[in-house]
Amino acid sequence: MKRHVRIGIPIRTNSPKCLFLLARQGFIAPFGDSPSVGIGGITLGGGIGPLQRSIGLISDNLLGLEMVDAKGRVIRANKNCNADLLWASRGGGGGNFGVYTRYKFKVHRAPAEATVYRITWL
Ligand SMILES: Cc1cc2nc3c(=O)[nH]c(=O)nc-3n(C[C@H](O)[C@H](O)[C@H](O)COP(=O)(O)OP(=O)(O)OC[C@H]3O[C@@H](n4cnc5c(N)ncnc54)[C@H](O)[C@@H]3O)c2cc1C
Repeated sequence: MKRHVRIGIPIRTNSPKCLFLLARQGFIAPFGDSPSVGIGGITLGGGIGPLQRSIGLISDNLLGLEMVDAKGRVIRANKNCNADLLWASRGGGGGNFGVYTRYKFKVHRAPAEATVYRITWL
């Protein structure tokens, strides 16, 4: 069974195309805590979120990418190809090396049970 998801950009972190589809199949992925943030910038900046203690930052789960550089070349990176670019993009990629058009993320099996909290400050 595949344990990854490919995401084209632009897409927001609460998009039904990623989180809800994953959830229906019993998977989770760390996509931050706000629905209005673009997956493009948050991934390249590191990406903290409520699941980071158990499954890491968003960038920890970035397995591969596709980007277009300043000369218009399409460049792909993963652990076997342009691994240094993948490494540098995990926190240092925002606006630095090119325009990222696609990400591949590791996904994780969702726990059988979850507790939902609603916290209100008065
Ligand atoms: C309401 C709110 C909640 C947030 N919550 C979280 C959170 O839970 N966890 C967290 O870690 N951060 C959080 N942030 C910070 C957020 O991760 C950063 O602001 C992030 O850079 C937003 O990315 P963006 O693509 O939406 O924004 P943009 O302003 O479009 O991009 C930010 C930077 O990334 C670059 N960039 C964006 N997309 C690409 C791309 N495809 N290719 C190359 N460069 C690109 C831009 O050039 C720019 O330098 C939050 C911010 C806000 C406003």
